Amino acid sequence: VFRNKLSFYAAAKVSSSFPTPDLPEVAFAGRSNVGKSSLLNALTRQWGVARTSDKPGLTQTINFFKLGTKLCLVDLPGYGFAYAKDEDKDSWEELVKEYVCTRMGLKRVCLLVDTKWGLKPRDHELIDLMERHQTRYQIVLTKTDLVFPIDVARRAMQVEESLKGNRSAVQPLMMVSSKSGAGIRCLRTALTRVARF
Ligand code: GDP
Repeated sequence: VFRNKLSFYAAAKVSSSFPTPDLPEVAFAGRSNVGKSSLLNALTRQWGVARTSDKPGLTQTINFFKLGTKLCLVDLPGYGFAYAKDEDKDSWEELVKEYVCTRMGLKRVCLLVDTKWGLKPRDHELIDLMERHQTRYQIVLTKTDLVFPIDVARRAMQVEESLKGNRSAVQPLMMVSSKSGAGIRCLRTALTRVARF
């Protein structure tokens, strides 16, 4: 699946401009700076090209990319900028809520969490939303190379503990480093399975 050519599909600022859901979709969410672009680049090895050649909006848009005719990768706007205006937060929430709650063909949301910082209130907000709407999601701990292995394991246990009883969370969580490449193949395999079933 990840060998297919990545191409820009659409950018949406409002839910009415979401493109036709004709492929299974995997979306990527998380706080700003969590390492989302780096991860998408590590997964596809073509992210930079797809992004820069089509220049999807730098601001609060949801960007859709196709991997051949197999899978649609969806880049949700990052959240948690301390200086974001309230109205920006509102529009972000509306857009992302609408997407994760109603999107046909959405198979999984990868919720990226910085291994060093763990789950923050905005992550919990999104998790609660996905639980309420039975959206399958998977936590992906990022930047594991910046933390001692023992602390990666501790963080994983802590996150799993706080997800106990959550029915829509896909276990086990994944741990990746886009820098060292650790865990990338494993995540690719998991998402390939999502594309097939
Ligand atoms: P985004 O805002 O979520 O798209 O985050 P980026 O992918 O732009 O990454 C934010 C910062 O974290 C950049 O300076 C990256 O170089 C750095 N970064 C991302 N992934 C990793 C990683 O796996 N290891 C390390 N050490 N740094 C990373």
